[in-house]
Amino acid sequence: MHNTSINTDLTRRPNTSTYLAQLDKRAFLFGRAFVILALLLSALILQTAIASQTSQLDARNAKYQYRPIYHKVRSGEYLGKIASRYKTTITKLRHWNKLKPGSVLPAGRVIQVGVKRVTAAGKLSGSKRYYTVRKGDSLSSIARRHRISLATLRKWNGFKKGQVLPAGKRLVVGFTQSKKKAAPPIKKGTRWLAITSHTKVKLPLNYNPPKAQLLDFNNKYYNLRLFAESFRQGKAVYLELLPRNPLPTRSVAEHSGLSISFLGQSIPLTKTAYGYRAFLALPPNKKPGQYPLIIQGQVVGQNYRISHRIPIMDTKFPVSVWRQNVGAPGSKKNSKPPDPKIAALIKKSTIKKNQVFRLRTNDKIGSRLAHPRDLHKVTSQFYTIRKYVRYYYENKKRIYLKSFSRPHRGLDLRGRTGEPIYAMLDGTVAAAQRMFYEGNFTVIDHGNGIFTGYMHQSRLHVKEGESVLAGQMIGQSGSTGMSTGPHLHMSLWIRGVALDPLSILCLPVR
Ligand SMILES: [Zn+2]
Repeated sequence: MHNTSINTDLTRRPNTSTYLAQLDKRAFLFGRAFVILALLLSALILQTAIASQTSQLDARNAKYQYRPIYHKVRSGEYLGKIASRYKTTITKLRHWNKLKPGSVLPAGRVIQVGVKRVTAAGKLSGSKRYYTVRKGDSLSSIARRHRISLATLRKWNGFKKGQVLPAGKRLVVGFTQSKKKAAPPIKKGTRWLAITSHTKVKLPLNYNPPKAQLLDFNNKYYNLRLFAESFRQGKAVYLELLPRNPLPTRSVAEHSGLSISFLGQSIPLTKTAYGYRAFLALPPNKKPGQYPLIIQGQVVGQNYRISHRIPIMDTKFPVSVWRQNVGAPGSKKNSKPPDPKIAALIKKSTIKKNQVFRLRTNDKIGSRLAHPRDLHKVTSQFYTIRKYVRYYYENKKRIYLKSFSRPHRGLDLRGRTGEPIYAMLDGTVAAAQRMFYEGNFTVIDHGNGIFTGYMHQSRLHVKEGESVLAGQMIGQSGSTGMSTGPHLHMSLWIRGVALDPLSILCLPVR
């Protein structure tokens, strides 16, 4: 049908040579009249050209419009979650939706979560998407399938009402949003970096540890050096004590009965070629201030007891709000009997953890350290204060329970399922098994009450009792246990105090 109409058009076109011959005859006959006509015609063309140029400029100015993108709030969603889903900020969400800080987002409410760029003609900007018409298709079925209106489909393809749809025709059915040029993907991989002449650290290509801060104390008995990323809450401290001979006449002086205490605890010391070393914890929940580090010992018949003031400065830990619909008390959701299998796994996990964290073995730490991943991307900071806001519905009204806060005692690092996990320090595997909350969980004992823990792994590569080296692959990241998506939850404990695991990477351990 379509083809027939084109053929008809062709037959109507005049024969070119006859047409020109006719023109010549008329020009000769009408001479001057034709010249005037030509002048008028060219003036008209010029005017049209100017007009079209102006309209092109207008079109360029009004090329784009910005239209809102909307989102329907689901139960349990909160601003932070929505902001991260749509790659925007809480501030922008508040601004677009006129939300006051602390105001509640009711489920079902439609809010603006972004803007999309459309051309002034109402089309999405970007490259066209096509669909080839198949037998049995109708305009409305195509529109429905591509989630556009019938009117839009007609407009994009220049269709008139009642026009028949030819099979095999290519129709414009949408526009691919032109995205900003995506940032080049972060290069995965690791390298060993010498942070001092004796300490090497395995690091992802996109991460460098900060330089360690040093507190240096000297007296006639010893030189005491303390290193930390910073002397702040949640950081690990590396201590070296280099004994001195207080008497110039004696070449060798053995210090005996040496002991160090900090925050009411005795600090285990390791004897080395240069003296002694130890690790300390600056607890994340310790009130900022100055705390005494007391060193006692005996050398050539002299007893000494010296107190040094160690600062613990404030760390601004981030706060995040977690909203949870916990279901009405006595509702189906809350009256489910606990699964005995789960209860047994929780019990077994607790017993194992208690057994592991009580271990006090010899120092196993060498002069090599490692970041636990081959790519550095923090998805939840260490000690983020998670405020849990719990509620349930009663007669469609939201009833709030008392909220509570829990700190995040580890660091979440990006790790897709199957990506490598490395031991942060030398040590012995104290546990490598499935646990209820932690999923596939590896705990490495580094001696002197220092442990690292690696949670939610998809695969475990080491067994309990095995010796591991810093930088050795011990497993693969995943989302096992209580986890909302693949990542590595990394923990560091120094004698029961949870610390920022990455704070050890700048320490000049030897
Ligand atoms: Zn975590």
